[in-house]
Amino acid sequence: MKKLEQLYEGKAKKVFQTDDPACLIVEYKDDATAFNGQKKGTILGKGAINNRMTNLLMQMLEHRGVPTHFVQELNERETVVKKVTIVPLEVIVRNISAGHFAQNYGVEEGIVFEEPTIEFSYKNDDLGDPLINSYHAKALKLATQAEIDTIVRLAFQINEALKEFFLAVGITLVDFKLEFGRLEDGTIVLADEISPDTCRLWDKETGEKLDKDRFRRDLGNVEGAYQEVMKRLTGSQP
Ligand code: ADP
Ligand code: UDP
Repeated sequence: MKKLEQLYEGKAKKVFQTDDPACLIVEYKDDATAFNGQKKGTILGKGAINNRMTNLLMQMLEHRGVPTHFVQELNERETVVKKVTIVPLEVIVRNISAGHFAQNYGVEEGIVFEEPTIEFSYKNDDLGDPLINSYHAKALKLATQAEIDTIVRLAFQINEALKEFFLAVGITLVDFKLEFGRLEDGTIVLADEISPDTCRLWDKETGEKLDKDRFRRDLGNVEGAYQEVMKRLTGSQP
């Protein structure tokens, strides 16, 4: 597959056109941002880890019946994916209170919910990704009711699969963000990434944070945490 011109450079990845109009190449960078781009930095080796981890998790999800954009890993940092039209919703699933949930609703971090929650943010950096509900999403024509129903069903299915997968390696899945896209024929598939950039992952025994909160909150050893998650999932480092 030939890598053609760059379509987009985001905060964590670059996206390239290819000689197959149905496919793109995503290239994962070491750049890290937080607080809607206000905090910037580099996490050495992050691109390679997030690329490999996303692909590993997406393949596991495909085996469990979740359609994803994954096609083929090309090398450490580059992967071929199906080109989709991204549904401009950040879909956030939570199992335990943390981050904005704790902040917005005035509760401590670490409350284990009886059942997972789901929420949507309007994916729009200029507006700061505001929280919206499904009626707002329909009013803004971001998605149809049928698409929202599919997204909610898949998001909870993904949560169950990821929770089990991480628990098997001693990691508690606290919360995470997903993005979905539409293929040419309208099929909704999981897109973007699943990595310590987009999930909160806590060590099951010690509660130690093994995710981007180490960067957001200046907790140190950010690289080590990302490597630790990868090591537990694969038994080796990338
Ligand atoms: P951001 O845009 O938030 O800075 P990234 O740096 O991760 O994020 O950039 C990757 C971009 O590619 C995101 O806007 C994401 O929605 C988009 N994207 C992810 N997967 C696909 C796909 N399969 N087809 C088209 N766009 C995608
Ligand atoms: N998240 C993300 N991208 C975003 C916002 C959130 O990947 O633009 C992830 C974040 O890493 C966490 C979950 O979604 O795992 C819930 O995030 P929260 O709403 O608590 O916001 P945060 O405190 O991360 O800004």
